[in-house]
Amino acid sequence: MGLNKKSVDDINVKGQKVLVRCDFNVPLKDGKITDENRLVAALPTIKKLISDGGKVILCSHLGKPKGEPKPELSLAPVAARLSELLGQEVKFAADPEVVGPNAKAAVEAMKDGDVILLENTRYRAEETKNGEAFSKELASLADVFVNDAFGTAHRAHCSNVGVTAYVKTSVVGYLMQKEIDFLGNAVENPVRPFVAILGGAKVADKLNVISNLLEKCDTLIIGGGMAYTFLKAKGYEVGTSLVDDEKIDYCKEMMDKAEKLGKTMLLPVDTTIAASFPNPIDAQIEVSVVGSDAIPADMMGLDIGTKTAELYADAVKSAKTVVWNGPMGVFENPILAKGTIAVAKSLAETDATTIIGGGDSAAAVNQLGFGDKMSHISTGGGASLEFLEGKELPGVAAANDK
Ligand code: AMP
Repeated sequence: MGLNKKSVDDINVKGQKVLVRCDFNVPLKDGKITDENRLVAALPTIKKLISDGGKVILCSHLGKPKGEPKPELSLAPVAARLSELLGQEVKFAADPEVVGPNAKAAVEAMKDGDVILLENTRYRAEETKNGEAFSKELASLADVFVNDAFGTAHRAHCSNVGVTAYVKTSVVGYLMQKEIDFLGNAVENPVRPFVAILGGAKVADKLNVISNLLEKCDTLIIGGGMAYTFLKAKGYEVGTSLVDDEKIDYCKEMMDKAEKLGKTMLLPVDTTIAASFPNPIDAQIEVSVVGSDAIPADMMGLDIGTKTAELYADAVKSAKTVVWNGPMGVFENPILAKGTIAVAKSLAETDATTIIGGGDSAAAVNQLGFGDKMSHISTGGGASLEFLEGKELPGVAAANDK
């Protein structure tokens, strides 16, 4: 299932002004970028547009400045690091209005093959409301629009959706194409067996993902905080573990659905427990492992147990396609990261197509040094989840059809 949208390969940008929406929403600490994967992932599209002789105007949001200039959320450090990664100057168009006099002057001065970066689009309050005025201002800078920001594709904002109404040509970039190809193929046309692994905190956040993946996969593996709502739905005592009481019926429904569809649903057979949630999160903590049906009433489940980790790793071994979203436990604490590490390792060791759905699982895989062992690590947590739910992403829908 290829993406039926025009891409940067379908246009000729020689001498044209090209506005490129990237996802440069990177973590910053004291003005330094602590994870530059999203910058690296944006390079192929930028390089292609430079070599075709376009005037490349990059834009992105960063964090949540809530509609006003916040110096600590300026994209200036991104321009500096991008210049190094590209080996070519990325001029930063500092401008509190994003598309104000400074930005316009910078665009006017561009020569073919030049690159500039606009200021954080969320300095403008209209951005997240998909407002008309700011959409038009952005469009006024460019002849062509390229959307390569997969991480924002599940939102309809000025800089990825509104702007497309006011430019003649809107296409997707290579990163967007790659993300949709990997995730789309896994879900719609997987080489089987297809194993989906879901973890993270809450069932409520992943209702539609659970339901949709159950229909598409052969085996659905559940870990993390959300597993305890399933265990409670099975009638087990789960102690003080994280539970969505309102979703117990939903979990029962999903277990019935799995049975009716003949799908395997794996739940933890044992669990790592402690007296309370670690505080601070990486505090030394005393843990033990018990069967999932033997959690004491005053204890809390914080990771899958050792037998479960083996069970899940075995399921991965027999798979040809694996999609993973969400940690198996409170992986921020090394004592409670064992389940997440075991799953990450099993994905690193298989020849199957392995797709990491962004967010915490992507961070975990990269931190563990398994990044280059995966077939694809999505740059978008929220966007990949909505894609796995089977939803259309507005940022993709807005691009011109082939
Ligand atoms: P999510 O954002 O839904 O992917 O959830 C990620 C968060 O879930 C991480 O911060 C984990 O610490 C947390 N988490 C994973 N397992 C548990 C658990 N058993 N109890 C509480 N929180 C958990």
